[in-house]
Amino acid sequence: MADKVKIGTMWLGGCSGCHIALTDLHELLLDVLDVAEFEFSPVLMDTKYDEIPHMDIIFIEGGIRNEENRELAEVLREKADMVVAYGSCAEFGGIPGLGNLYTPEELEEEAYLNSCSTVNPDGIIPSESVPHLESRVRPLADVIKVDAALPGCPPKSEVIAQVVIALVKGEPVEIPDNNLCDV
Ligand code: SF4
Repeated sequence: MADKVKIGTMWLGGCSGCHIALTDLHELLLDVLDVAEFEFSPVLMDTKYDEIPHMDIIFIEGGIRNEENRELAEVLREKADMVVAYGSCAEFGGIPGLGNLYTPEELEEEAYLNSCSTVNPDGIIPSESVPHLESRVRPLADVIKVDAALPGCPPKSEVIAQVVIALVKGEPVEIPDNNLCDV
């Protein structure tokens, strides 16, 4: 039997909802596992970033919001033969892209000083312990080469399974016009 295609997933500047949709594959996961094996994913295994293995295909959720997102995207590009922008945040910037209406300084002041849920009596805005915000949110393809995209916020689970299997088999990918999760 031929070796299975090695796939992985990672989240960057998103909400993890695209990964939740992945866990909603339910029995469709068995169809995916017939042709592929997960080599790397934050929801399945604990892998240090300096131990990321080589993968045939990686599905990356989220855009580039901060310097850690950018650095990790560059590492993942090196580690994978094919990069898929997974979800609308990765493809377009998505909901986090609304932050582009404000400067990074305005966003930090809102989060750390001004929001109604903030408790920060010393008025400290962390500068060392959290990754620095980039000047604006960017889609993945603005930072690294992207080979394919699966839009949706999040994509429907059945479409995820279809697309993963098609990409693994090297077959044409068809994405329906309506690819939002049912609510
Ligand atoms: Fe979350 Fe939607 Fe972005 Fe996926 S595309 S990370 S579900 S906001």
